[in-house]
Amino acid sequence: MNWLTKLVLPKIRAVVAKKDVPDNLWIKCPSCEQMLFHRELETNLFVCRNCGHHLRLNPNRRLALLFDEGSYTEVELPKAVVDPLRFRDRKRYTDRLKEAQARGADALRVAHGKIGGVPAVAAVFDFEFLGGSMGVAVGEGLIAAARLAVLQEAALIVVPASGGARMQEGILSLMQLPRTIIAVEELKAKALPYIVLLTDPTTGGVSASFAMLGDITLAEPGAVVGFAGARVIEETIREKLPEGFQRAEYLLEHGMVDMVVPRAKLRETMVRLLDLLYRKQPAPVVVPLLTAQVRGAGEGAT
Ligand SMILES: [Zn+2]
Repeated sequence: MNWLTKLVLPKIRAVVAKKDVPDNLWIKCPSCEQMLFHRELETNLFVCRNCGHHLRLNPNRRLALLFDEGSYTEVELPKAVVDPLRFRDRKRYTDRLKEAQARGADALRVAHGKIGGVPAVAAVFDFEFLGGSMGVAVGEGLIAAARLAVLQEAALIVVPASGGARMQEGILSLMQLPRTIIAVEELKAKALPYIVLLTDPTTGGVSASFAMLGDITLAEPGAVVGFAGARVIEETIREKLPEGFQRAEYLLEHGMVDMVVPRAKLRETMVRLLDLLYRKQPAPVVVPLLTAQVRGAGEGAT
């Protein structure tokens, strides 16, 4: 250690690190680097007022945004086997889990309520929980959500934000791909609506299973959605990838996504879609006349 690192560096750090405001009051936009006031960001649904970048929304806020009057009932999810492989990298998987569990039981939250008066079950990923990775618990959660939707004859809305399968659970996490697909199929067999809202990021095993099977696939602006990362693809095919590759807008242009919906329009879009998908019959305007005629014909016959 020389004088530069010993003496000068701490002084520079002290100057740079000096903050006039507490950490939680200001948030730096990851896209344009503008400092955003937390309270203002909250009222703007965590969308940067400067560049329109959609910051990650935590599951509580997402659920409150989706459901009527922000009111919903959270579902307790089945407990999954913890650390079936006794996995250890730099840390034990059980320790990683324990730390993450300060946020909730696992990377998925499921709730039910009404959206535009239509019964709905929502399964929302928590990216802060081990990168929103899908292990056995998340798979179980998705199955529970789909079955609850079938039971309640409700629509299912899934909001993934995930790096993919949870590698610490090895093949067991890969098994969640077919399991979640079957869960969604159970819902489709009952002709109940299934809407996916792709948020940043939706990648790996999650993008390779239930997340691509929505009756309608929505995406948030700028969300990265894909299977392998752009750098890996670029290195494999040795070609420069096009501008905006794997972004929501690019996927919309190429037919992978039906709509890119800004967060401010999310609720009204969801209400409109559910109304269209859930209404089983058109409004019965002509029904009274028809019943009158049928009744008349019936009376004549007897
Ligand atoms: Zn910004």
